[in-house]
Amino acid sequence: MSTPVEILATPLVDAANVRPPQQRQLARLSLRTVRDLLFNFPRDYEDLSDLRPVAELEEDVLQTVRGTVEEVDSRGTGFGKSRVGVLVSDRGLLLRATWFNQPFMRDKFEVGQRVQMSAKPRMRGGRWEMTHPHTVWLGDEFAEADQQPTNPSALQPIYPLTEGLSQYHMRRIAAEVVPKFADVPDEVFSPTLLAEYDLLSIGDALRSIHLPQNTEQVEAARRRFIFQELFILQLALAARRHQQRVNFRAPALEANPQIDARITRLLPFEFTPGQRAAVDEIAQDMAATAPMNRLLQGDVGSGKTLVAVYALLVCVAHGHQAALMAPTEILARQHAHTLQRLLEQSRVRYRLLVGGLKAAERKEVLREMAAGEVDLVIGTHALLEEKVQFKNLGLVVIDEQHKFGVEQRAALRRGDRSPHYLVMTATPIPRTMSMTQFGDLDVSTLRDMPPGRQPVTSYVVGPGERERWWHFARNKLREGRQAFVVTPLVEESENLAAASVDQAFENLTSGELADFRVDILHGRMTAMEKDDAMERFRRGDTQVLVATTVIEVGVDVPNASLMIIASPERFGIAQLHQLRGRVGRGTHPGYCAVLVEEELNDTGRERMQKFAATSSGFELAELDFQLRGPGDLFGTQQHGLPPLVIADLVRDAEVLEQARDAAMALFASDPGLANTEHAKLRSQMLRRYGAALDLSDVG
Ligand code: ADP
Ligand code: MG
Repeated sequence: MSTPVEILATPLVDAANVRPPQQRQLARLSLRTVRDLLFNFPRDYEDLSDLRPVAELEEDVLQTVRGTVEEVDSRGTGFGKSRVGVLVSDRGLLLRATWFNQPFMRDKFEVGQRVQMSAKPRMRGGRWEMTHPHTVWLGDEFAEADQQPTNPSALQPIYPLTEGLSQYHMRRIAAEVVPKFADVPDEVFSPTLLAEYDLLSIGDALRSIHLPQNTEQVEAARRRFIFQELFILQLALAARRHQQRVNFRAPALEANPQIDARITRLLPFEFTPGQRAAVDEIAQDMAATAPMNRLLQGDVGSGKTLVAVYALLVCVAHGHQAALMAPTEILARQHAHTLQRLLEQSRVRYRLLVGGLKAAERKEVLREMAAGEVDLVIGTHALLEEKVQFKNLGLVVIDEQHKFGVEQRAALRRGDRSPHYLVMTATPIPRTMSMTQFGDLDVSTLRDMPPGRQPVTSYVVGPGERERWWHFARNKLREGRQAFVVTPLVEESENLAAASVDQAFENLTSGELADFRVDILHGRMTAMEKDDAMERFRRGDTQVLVATTVIEVGVDVPNASLMIIASPERFGIAQLHQLRGRVGRGTHPGYCAVLVEEELNDTGRERMQKFAATSSGFELAELDFQLRGPGDLFGTQQHGLPPLVIADLVRDAEVLEQARDAAMALFASDPGLANTEHAKLRSQMLRRYGAALDLSDVG
C-alpha cells in the first residue's frame, strides 16, 4: 500500500494520457505530479450556458460571445477622457467592445487574439456593442476548445496556460486525473469541523473546483479552500500569541495607585476615556510576567503618545529601563522634546540614541545604557544594533509600527527574557489587516479625540481655484500661522526627492510665497540639517516648510495650520490623511488643500473628493484598502508572512472573520493542537508558517 503522499507524487505521465511534448509544457507550469495538478486551480470559468453567435444576440441580456480581435483603436475624447474600441469577429459578423477612460485596455488586445466577452449587448447603428465586457483571453487553443469538451458541464474551467499547451488539453488532463485522485489527499479538517463550518470535504472540493456542474459548486469549493488558508493562518497566529506568552518571561510591572498618581501628576492633560481604557489594558498586561504584545491603534492625533509615555513611566518606576523607538530621526527627536518637557520635574534619566550622534557621544550613551545609568532611551533603528546593550530592559514602545516587523521585535530579547512590547500604528488599520498582519498582537483602539482638537477643512483645489487658494493661504500666514507644502517623490527625476522639492521651493519662493520665510526639508539632507530645519520651523522662524513625506508621520507643530499637498494622486489616501493630521493640532483650525491637475481622471478626482469629505481615518483606511489593496498600506513582506495564495483580504473579509473565530475556538480548546484529530492541521500550520512566525513545535 502506498501512502497518500506517495500516490500524490505520481508523475502526471504515469497518471494520465500525457504525451512527451505536453509533459514538457506542463513542467513549464510547474505541473509534474498528480498533486501539482490537483492544486492547480482554474483562474476562471467560462459559462457556456448562454454562449451565442453574434447573429443570435439579444438586447440587454447577459450573454457571452467568442471571436477574433480584428481591430483595436483608442482615442482621447477631451478633458482627460478616452475611449478604447475593440472589434471582434464571429462567423462573419462584428461586435464592438468599448472601454471608457481605461486607456490601458488598449495594450491588452492584439489583432488575431481569440477572446471571450460577456456583457449585456446593445444594438447601435446596426452593430452589436458591449460596454466594458468581462473578457477572457482564450489563447491559441480556441479552435480545439470548440471540440466536444470532456466535461459535459456548461461551466468550463479556464487554466493558466503556456505556449503550445491548449485549454482543451488542460481540461482533458484535469478531467482524467481529478476523478481518479480527488479523494487521495488527506483531509486536514476533522469531521466535526467540516460539519460545524459547513465545508466541502477535500475530495468534493477538488472535484467541484475542477469539474463543476454549476457556479454554486465553484463557490462552495472556493470557500472551502479560502477558509482553509485563512484558518491555518489564524491558527498559526494563535499559536504565536500563545508561545510568546509561555516561552518568554518579562518583569511584572504593576501600575499600583502610588505609581499611577505620580505619573498622572506629571502629565499635562487628563486622559480621554479612550486613553484611560487603553492605559488600563496596557497596565494589566504589564503587571503580568507573560510579555505584553499589544498594538495601539488610533486615528491621527488621537493621542497615542501620551498613552505610550504612561507605559514608559510605569516601567521606569519599577527600576527597569524602557525604550521608545521611532521610525525616523525627526520623530525620535520630537519625542525626546516632548519627554524633556514632561520630565523636568522628575528624576528620570533619559537619552537620545539616533544615527546622527557624534561618535564620542554615542559611545557614552551606550555605556550608560549598559551600566543602567539611563532609565529611558529614545531612538530609531539604531536601538536594534548588536552593540546596544541594556542592563534591564522592561518595555519597548515602537511608534508607527508598520515600519518594523516581527524580527525587529525579537531583536531585543535575551534567551527567554523578553521586554513587554507596545506597538503603535500611524493610522487606523483596516479590520482584515489587523486580523492578519497584526493578528499575533492584542489590540487597543483609541476611538475618541482629545478635547480642543481643531477641525481640519479640506479642499480639492483645481488649476482654476489656485489663485484664490494662495490668496487665502497668504492671509493665514500673515495672521501668524505656518504651513507645510508637501511634494511627492518623483521617481523619474534623476535626483529623486531633492529635485521635486527644490523645484517646488524655487517656484514658490519666486512666486506665490515670495514675501515669506520658506525653508526646505527632504530625506537627502543630513540629520543635522533636517533637525535644524525642523527646529527653525518649530520656533516659528520659518513660516513655510516645503518638504517630502519625511514629515508624514507624527510631526507635531501646533502653530502649523495649513497643509498643502502637490500631486496628491501619488499618495495613498491613508497617507494623505496622515499628512492632514499634521495641522489643526493647536488652537487654530486647520486647512488642507490637495492641488489637483486638470488631467486627473474621474476615479482620481473621486478619490480626492472622498478624502476631502471624510474626516474619519478609520473610514479612509477601509476605502484605501478597497481601492489599492493591502500591499500599499503595509508591505506584507515586511511582516514576513508568506503571501496568501487563494484568499483575498479585500474580497474575503467575511470568511476571514469565520476562520478567525473558528481558529481561536479550536486553539482555546486544544492549545497545543495535541489532539490527534488536529495533527494534520498542526503539521500544515508548521509547514507553512513555522519559520515565518518562529513557531516551535507546539505538540
Ligand atoms: P497621535 O495619536 O497621532 O500620535 P499625538 O500623541 O501626537 O497623536 O497627540 C496629538 C495631540 O493631542 C498632541 O498635541 C497632544 O499633546 C494632544 N493630546 C494628547 N492627549 C491629550 C489629552 N488627553 N487632552 C488634551 N490633549 C491631548
Ligand atoms: Mg504619533
